[in-house]
Amino acid sequence: MNATRPPLRPLDQALAELLSHAQLLAGTESVSTFDAGRRVLARDLVSPLQVPPNDNSSMDGYAVRCADVAANGEALRVSQRIPAGASPEPLEPGTVARIFTGAPVPAGADAIVMQEDTEPAGEHVVRFLRTPQPGEWIRRSGEDVRAGSVVLARGERLSSAALGLAASIGMGELEVVRRPRVALFSTGDELVMPGEVAPADMKPGAIYNSNRFFLSELLRNLECEVSDYGIVPDDREATVGALAHASRSSDLILTSGGVSVGEEDHVKPAVQQLGSLDLWQIAIKPGKPFAYGRIGDAHFMGLPGNPVSSFVTFLLLVRPFLLKLQGATQLAPRAVDMPAHFEWPRADRRREFLRVRRNGNGALELFPNQSSGVLTSVAWADGLVDNPAGRTIALGDTVSFIPLAELLA
Ligand code: AMP
Ligand code: MG
Repeated sequence: MNATRPPLRPLDQALAELLSHAQLLAGTESVSTFDAGRRVLARDLVSPLQVPPNDNSSMDGYAVRCADVAANGEALRVSQRIPAGASPEPLEPGTVARIFTGAPVPAGADAIVMQEDTEPAGEHVVRFLRTPQPGEWIRRSGEDVRAGSVVLARGERLSSAALGLAASIGMGELEVVRRPRVALFSTGDELVMPGEVAPADMKPGAIYNSNRFFLSELLRNLECEVSDYGIVPDDREATVGALAHASRSSDLILTSGGVSVGEEDHVKPAVQQLGSLDLWQIAIKPGKPFAYGRIGDAHFMGLPGNPVSSFVTFLLLVRPFLLKLQGATQLAPRAVDMPAHFEWPRADRRREFLRVRRNGNGALELFPNQSSGVLTSVAWADGLVDNPAGRTIALGDTVSFIPLAELLA
C-alpha cells in the first residue's frame, strides 16, 4: 500500500508549481470606484494633482503673519473670513483672517493660531494669548500626495482606504483585471443540502454539505464569478457532461472531496477522460490530498473533503492562485511571531496549520480539537500557527502566526 503512494510534496514546492500555471487573465474592465473593493488594479494610478491641493488650516482659528503677532499681539484686526471651500484674498499686512478647518491659507499668512489661544478684544478685533511659530497648524499642499506620483500601483488589491485614496485624486472609475470565473462542485453521495433536507429527515450516514457554503463565500471574497454546480451527479456520464460544460466557461473548476488515495469517485476518471489530472500528496496537516489538472483552457483543482482540510488548502493554495490570475502582487499572507500560550508536545512529519486565537495578553490559545473534521476550530480561530514539520511547541515558545484577517480579506 505504502509503496504505491506518491511521495509527500512540500507545500512551497506545490505552491510554486501551481503558481507557474497561473497566467494573468486577459481583459480588464472599468468599474465605478464604489464597486472596486478587493478588485486588482490593472494600471498604475498616477495623481494629476496635489493632495491637499492648497496649504490649508488644520484648525478653526486665525491665519496670521507671525511677525505681526510678535510685534503687536495684544490685538489685531480681523480683515477677512475664510470658510472651507472659499478663495481667500492675500492677507492684509497688520491684520489677521478668521479661518476654519480645511480652508485655504491666504497668501502672506505663515501660521494658524487656534481659536483656543485667542480671545475677543472688541468688534472684529482679536487678542493673541501666545506667539505662534511659522508653519503651525498648516497642512501643506501635497503632503498626502504629490502631483505625478504613483498613488497605487498595478497589482494592488483595493482596500477600503485605497478606494478613498483613489477618489482623493479624482478617480470616479478604476481599471481592474476581470473577475476569474470559477465553477464549484461538491462530491460525495453522503451530502445533502441544508434547507432541502430537514435534520429530522436525514438518512443514516448523510451529512450536510458545509464546504459548498464556505468555498463559495471564499471565492466571492476573491471577487470571483462563481457558477455553483452543486453536488456532482452520481453517474459517470452526467459528471463528464457537467465538467465539460464548466470547462468551456471557467478559468478554474474547483471541487471538494474525492481526491483521497484509492477513493472511488466519478470526478477523477471524468477529469482524466476530458483532460489531465495529477494527484498530489502535500506535506501539510490538515490537508494532504490535492489534485491539479486541466480540462481544455480551464484549470482544475480538487480539494480534500474534510471541511478543515478543504478550508485550509483553499487558503494556502487556491487563494494565491486566484490572486495571481488577477495580477495581484501580494500573494502570501504576512505572518508575525507570537508567543504560544499552549503546548504541542507531539511533532508531526507534516507541516501543520493549527487553529489558534489571540488572547488579551498578546499570546496564542489553541483550539482543543485540531481534527480536520472539526469546522468549529476554524470558526473559533482568528489565525493559524504555521508549525514546521517535526517541531513541538512548549509554553512560551515563539511561533509563526498567520492572522485569518490576512487570508480572508
Ligand atoms: P473525501 O475527501 O471525499 O474522502 O471526504 C472526506 C470527509 O469529508 C468525509 O467524511 C466526507 O463526508 C467529508 N466531506 C466531503 N465533502 C464534504 C462537504 N462538501 N461538506 C462536508 N463534509 C464533506
Ligand atoms: Mg467523498
